[in-house]
Amino acid sequence: MSRYAYVNGRYLPFRDAKVHIEDRGYQFSDGVYEVCEVRGSRLIDERRHFERLQRSLTEIRIAPPMSVRALGIVLREVVRLNRIGYGIVYVQITRGVARRDHAFPPPQTLPSIVVTARSLNMARNKALAEKGIAVISVPDNRWGRVDIKTIGLLPNVLARQEAIERGARDAWFVDKDGKVTEASSANAWIVTAGGVLVTRRADHAILRGITRTVVFDAIKAKGLSVEERAFTLEEAYRAREAFITSASQIVLPVVTIDGQAVGDGKPGPVATALRREYYRYTEAS
Ligand code: PLP
Repeated sequence: MSRYAYVNGRYLPFRDAKVHIEDRGYQFSDGVYEVCEVRGSRLIDERRHFERLQRSLTEIRIAPPMSVRALGIVLREVVRLNRIGYGIVYVQITRGVARRDHAFPPPQTLPSIVVTARSLNMARNKALAEKGIAVISVPDNRWGRVDIKTIGLLPNVLARQEAIERGARDAWFVDKDGKVTEASSANAWIVTAGGVLVTRRADHAILRGITRTVVFDAIKAKGLSVEERAFTLEEAYRAREAFITSASQIVLPVVTIDGQAVGDGKPGPVATALRREYYRYTEAS
């Protein structure tokens, strides 16, 4: 089936979907992005993803190139053209094309917008969640503003690659105090021996995941105890359960950390229940 992408005002066949070599995304990673889950051909939590996109743009001082309404139309059209039932839609906005110079380009420079979508394999994701994943820990060597969803992801790329080369699926970043920040493209959670859910406070050291926010709603509705605080790697090794959250994998159990089994080494009941009930707390549009 042919794939289509939206590039700066046009819906193009994938092979023709190109940006200029002097796009500042390509030259400097000078841009931001969002990833939204598509389920039943509808966007999951579009409103929250757009709010975060707006915030990311404001933080790096790019003026929104189109209204939220227009962007919603573009995302839906890309989902429709690619016939996505279950998958993800990706939107990237950069500071546009200009002669290479670190300082901002002239004010009339238009931001570049790219939107792509692709299907995910639901059966494969379900099987992965039923088995759980292995993670390794790596030093968090990212910049100080990872709360902004920028396209500059080199440390995340290297961490993920190291995880795969060491036989794991993902990496958890650990800060200089020995506290876990988050995974390479997801938020990190544990369930303590006392049954308390713990995830790091959303300051500048992690991305405030939309899935994380929805999981908080689910936790509150279920009356579970939760603490928003940093936890050490040692605490994670001793946890009853661990899991990660992200738009593309929702709630994904973690069964080993650095080769050590978490709990009984199987996906735990809390993560499994949160995954099962997740869509009760989302908005589909
Ligand atoms: N943390 C990082 C570094 C991410 O890249 C992502 C998602 O891409 C998340 C957390 C989870 O965010 P969300 O739940 O909005 O997908």
